[in-house]
Amino acid sequence: MSNVEAEPAEVTCASTPGGVEVLGPRDVPLGGPRAMSVRRTLPQKQRSLIGAWCFCDHYGPDDVSMDVAPHPHTGLQTVSWLFTGEIEHRDSLGVHAFVRPGELNLMTGGRGICHSEVSTPGSTVLHGVQLWLALPDAHRDAPRDFQHHVPPTVELDGAAIRVFLGSLAGSASPVTTFSPLLGAEIVLPADTTLTLDVDPSFEHGVLLDTGDVTLAGTALQPADLGYVGTGRSSLTLTSTGGARLVLLGGEPFGEEIVMWWNFVGRTHDEIAAYRDEWQAETDRFGRVEGYAGTRLPAPPLPGGRLRPRGNPA
Ligand code: MN
Repeated sequence: MSNVEAEPAEVTCASTPGGVEVLGPRDVPLGGPRAMSVRRTLPQKQRSLIGAWCFCDHYGPDDVSMDVAPHPHTGLQTVSWLFTGEIEHRDSLGVHAFVRPGELNLMTGGRGICHSEVSTPGSTVLHGVQLWLALPDAHRDAPRDFQHHVPPTVELDGAAIRVFLGSLAGSASPVTTFSPLLGAEIVLPADTTLTLDVDPSFEHGVLLDTGDVTLAGTALQPADLGYVGTGRSSLTLTSTGGARLVLLGGEPFGEEIVMWWNFVGRTHDEIAAYRDEWQAETDRFGRVEGYAGTRLPAPPLPGGRLRPRGNPA
């Protein structure tokens, strides 16, 4: 998915005594015919990253179509995770794939990649999350890559868990990552309390998709991202009416990044150079074959210098 937001609004966040920070969503329109809008919880003013997770869009279930023309990425990986619908993916590595519910599609756009995303004709309802992972400095020029993995569903105390990155509840994803990470979908039946053993060196975020959930004593609304910092060896989730959520985690990223449009870099000048290369159609990004239409032009850079984002100490 492409970030088309020009002027991100700031959102207030609340810290609770239990140590849970509730990151509320803001609505971001993506434009286009039968336009869809997404609920964005990362990045925001108070928090830019959870581990290496640097972008979190939640969308649907909406009766919409998606048609995102070829657009570039640098310095990041994209994680597409659907609950409903189907999206056709084409990229400049030559991959032509279909993104389907319960299947991880992880695209690495290190040095540079471009891709298109189009919902398939029979797929009118879209519901899912689009996530980005910042690549650490040592790996941010990694070559283009695309990995597909269908995680098994494991049961724990009545919950159904699909671990797409990292390990949880005895289930480990074979997909390699460039920093220690966790990503999992969890479905809680009604009247459930689930305690998960987690790595205390990780910070975590719980994105509530549907239903109701309480994270470490703090209730979340749908599309909220509940954040807890490092130092916890377990997380307790409670639901009264049932819930579906996505659990994200990772070691604190420890680097400041510059994010603009679809690029992750380290400086304003680097981002400006990526933009110039996209506009000049250089080999850094390559070409998408088979997309019916033209590539997305980069928006103009903002007036001031782009500033690095990090997390509060
Ligand atoms: Mn994209």
